[in-house]
Amino acid sequence: QVEEWKKLRSEPTVSKDGVHVELAANIGTPNDVAGVLENGGEAVGLYRTEFLYMGRDKLPSEEIQYVAYKSVLEKMEGKPVVVRTLDIGGDKELPYLDLPKEMNPFLGFRAVRLCLDRQDIFRTQLRALLRASAHGNLRIMFPMIATLSEFREAKGLLEEEKAKLISEGIPVSEEIQLGIMVEIPSTAVLADQFAKEVDFFSIGTNDLIQYTMAADRMNERVAYLYQPYNPAILRLVKMVIDAAHREGRWVGMCGEMAGDSTAIPILLGLGLDEFSMSATSILPARSQINKLSRSDMQALAAKALEMGSAEEVVALVESIETAAE
Ligand code: PEP
Ligand code: MG
Repeated sequence: QVEEWKKLRSEPTVSKDGVHVELAANIGTPNDVAGVLENGGEAVGLYRTEFLYMGRDKLPSEEIQYVAYKSVLEKMEGKPVVVRTLDIGGDKELPYLDLPKEMNPFLGFRAVRLCLDRQDIFRTQLRALLRASAHGNLRIMFPMIATLSEFREAKGLLEEEKAKLISEGIPVSEEIQLGIMVEIPSTAVLADQFAKEVDFFSIGTNDLIQYTMAADRMNERVAYLYQPYNPAILRLVKMVIDAAHREGRWVGMCGEMAGDSTAIPILLGLGLDEFSMSATSILPARSQINKLSRSDMQALAAKALEMGSAEEVVALVESIETAAE
């Protein structure tokens, strides 16, 4: 099996009936790019920039950030790199920001909420990203978007910083795609409206599942409710994909679910365009998708959406796997 996977390193990911999907990787630092390329990653689907801010005693300067972003873009040699702006808060703390303790950190002042308030922090990151954009294929993505006005405000700040850089004579790419993470149910439900304004969506199932099921992703006592295959989650994913495709946008997924062999057949059937996962999952996922027919998986997904529980969905997927063996 390992030999088979190695052969797939420089192959595209194509279903048996000829549908291409993109397999991308999630990374946390520029050093992770080597593993992405070794494992045949076609893109970086999620660069979690939090690590730049963690493990130091003050905010990273624009220069430090620029060097890191540029390095990832250059190492990826023109392949797409989706950089997520700062997603601090919740499970990820920054001691030097000295934020007040909250009763419900996962529902609190975090990610884009913090960035829209602390514009100094946000603008520095946006400038670093815009400067780095001249060195590769950059896509920018905002985390934890709950409302259209948050997206518009964040986009406005990006445009302001871009205009400033241009007036300073600093080169900025004109091709930067701008997207959002869909990880809050309100945004999944309103995806048709968002799809008119964003270039792409990336579904963050790690959070989407916890917010939809009201089950803390860190709490083992409610882990039984953390159900990726719950038809409620699948229906939200479908809504997002359909809404995006109606507007000609692409949809990725960068939560753990995207690399999960039980979820992959359903996600292929629902029409997901990009799957972003840990680098080591890419070759197994490619091998799996190459053996599946998308039209069969459409039928499978349609059945899954009409089921009443996660257990039934798992049994359904397992039944096609046994049939294939
Ligand atoms: C997600 O929520 O699915 C996601 C990819 O982001 P994180 O795991 O960093 O919250
Ligand atoms: Mg998240």
